[in-house]
Amino acid sequence: IEQTAYQNDKLAMLGKIAAAIAHEIRNPLTSIRGFIQLLRPPLMELGKEEYARIIVAEIDRANDIIHEFLNSSKPTAPMKQGMPVDALLKEVVLLSESEALMRGCFIRHRPIDEPLLIAIDVKQVKQVLLNIVKNGLDAITESLGTNDGLIELSARRDGADAVISIRDNGMGMDRNTMNRLFDPFFTTKATGTGLGLSVSYRIIRNHGGRIQLESAIGEGTEFQIYLPLAT
Ligand code: ADP
Repeated sequence: IEQTAYQNDKLAMLGKIAAAIAHEIRNPLTSIRGFIQLLRPPLMELGKEEYARIIVAEIDRANDIIHEFLNSSKPTAPMKQGMPVDALLKEVVLLSESEALMRGCFIRHRPIDEPLLIAIDVKQVKQVLLNIVKNGLDAITESLGTNDGLIELSARRDGADAVISIRDNGMGMDRNTMNRLFDPFFTTKATGTGLGLSVSYRIIRNHGGRIQLESAIGEGTEFQIYLPLAT
């Protein structure tokens, strides 16, 4: 037992150091970004503008990785409170609606027949759902790019679990992606961090739940999040 406690201490310490380093790297990144912006036309030769754009985009990507890393390395013990699934889904739809509209997608929440109560860290689980919705929007923009995009949230009861479903009619994914999408830093997007789903997976595991998915190329994807019902 002592050995484990010691290793946990060491891990916690490593996490703190990593978080401190990540924090320190952000400051120089921010100033580099600012000075590159100053080099933009008319000061900069034409044609080099594209280089500046790429550098700024890459700095933003590094910043995103640090941001998500800092978020995910915070203490993970969930601060649980009772939450009706229906209210949670409504909130997620509300928070995603404007982004969805901007991208020509429709997002809706199918009301649930029976009340489902779960004990969750609302902030953490909301982060998971928003992340999955955002992935759905990306998958829709990638394939349809039109006004036919639809994301639907619903929930049902399965034994002692509440099952939250998030379905999109985006581009879907192949076997390789399905096998790897929970791996840290796995991404198929030009500007992705590949951290969203690995962090989501950990959060749901910390809640005693699990995530399953089904997907078909050209048809869409459905994520199912199982969370134990509050007793
Ligand atoms: P990121 O969004 O930064 O790439 P994630 O961990 O959230 O990182 O997702 C990892 C990968 O899983 C994505 O790059 C994408 O290939 C795939 N993916 C996730 N959700 C979907 C979805 N709804 N439809 C298609 N592909 C998806």
